[in-house]
Amino acid sequence: MSHLSVAKFGGTSVANYAAMTACAKIVLADPNTRVVVLSASAGVTNLLVALANGVDAQQREKLVGEVRQIQENILTELKDDSVVRPDIERLLASIESLSEAASLATSPALTDELISHGEMMSTRIFIEILRELNAQSTWLDVRSIVATNSHFGKAAPDDELTQKNSDNILKPLIDRGELVITQGFIGRDPNGKTTTLGRGGSDYSAALIAEVLHAKDVLIWTDVAGIYTTDPRIVPAAQRIDTMSFAEAAEMATFGAKVLHPATLLPAVRSNIPVYVGSSKAPQDGGTWVTRDPQPRPTFRAIALRRDQTLLTLSSLNMLHAQGFLANVFNILAKHKISVDTITTSEVSVALTLDKTGSASSGAELLSSELLTELSEVCTVKVDTGLSLVALIGNDLHISAGIAKRIFDALEQYNVRMISYGASTNNVCMLVQSGQADEVVRALHAELFEK
Ligand code: ASP
Ligand code: MG
Repeated sequence: MSHLSVAKFGGTSVANYAAMTACAKIVLADPNTRVVVLSASAGVTNLLVALANGVDAQQREKLVGEVRQIQENILTELKDDSVVRPDIERLLASIESLSEAASLATSPALTDELISHGEMMSTRIFIEILRELNAQSTWLDVRSIVATNSHFGKAAPDDELTQKNSDNILKPLIDRGELVITQGFIGRDPNGKTTTLGRGGSDYSAALIAEVLHAKDVLIWTDVAGIYTTDPRIVPAAQRIDTMSFAEAAEMATFGAKVLHPATLLPAVRSNIPVYVGSSKAPQDGGTWVTRDPQPRPTFRAIALRRDQTLLTLSSLNMLHAQGFLANVFNILAKHKISVDTITTSEVSVALTLDKTGSASSGAELLSSELLTELSEVCTVKVDTGLSLVALIGNDLHISAGIAKRIFDALEQYNVRMISYGASTNNVCMLVQSGQADEVVRALHAELFEK
């Protein structure tokens, strides 16, 4: 059995010199960690996305200045920045010229090229941080490993080619005993162009790399000590979950818990690789292990909240006793690459929410006017915004007696716009007014988790 671990550190974990040093110490304390996957320093990707959307010269200077400042703050704390500084300067110059190009004409390919610079910079700097701790490490351009299709902004990995690249390039480095530092979030398409896996995609990268290396586990180091029964900022009484299943964690990620990127679990589940979530700021606090079959499996596991939901209500009198209406609607949605999230139907109408979890790196709006026009040709369309989706996650929710009553009792005071119950054994979803969402989460948590 392999003893290899892949560690991933998120943006806040590599935000500054002190945070990066804490990460380096975590890496060096664990001899099994041979591959380190990094995000860009906190804030950098957002700035690069803004630049990629095309801004005027003055704004450009301001934004590039902010990116530069984040890097500069780390460089000045290095004891010796002479090796890495020229690399960072070169990357900043490249950011400037790509931003200028974006101000003339934006394109998804250009966006990905530009925003990949954040991870390029953080990984360069991390090598120096390790060097200060007397550790030698090897910088690897992850684009030589992670092969993807050309869907810029949300590229899908080519698993076979990624496996081959890993066997040829990454595996030999590990076998030689090297400590490899590489980038999350980015990949390369068949034409050699830089792609990204979607915002927050570094977790996914780490899991993909763990999979091709047949690693023992993936360690996701972030700014919270594991996964909680709900967001502790909303409910201070939320409890840390010590072990949970892939299925439960996947539901949580999908329904808005920001701790893991929703796609992370795909390779982990496929190849049965345990995932650990812990805090790089407080590694001693422990964390959550996500595994295939942990025990026990409680009926109620967690409550996730996803804000900013869009509800589409589509109705057509023609739907009465008609065939093919839903097929029509779904064809149109599919054509616009929109995935539907929750859905309820009645005889002449269907209400559905749109899945924004895997939204593209550029943050482009899902609901385009082209889509609305096309839908309007087959039905009346009503768009409701200002909604939040509260998802109760658990096990065997559909066969446990009395669950609906407990949920509805907790929700007595609130106006629930839509509820989806029974399609999944693992969740019950409720759509509520955004202004009431936190209260709804608190009420459910109190009823189901604090008694
Ligand atoms: N830096 C990228 C982002 O902010 C990827 C990541 O953090 O996982 O989305
Ligand atoms: Mg991140």
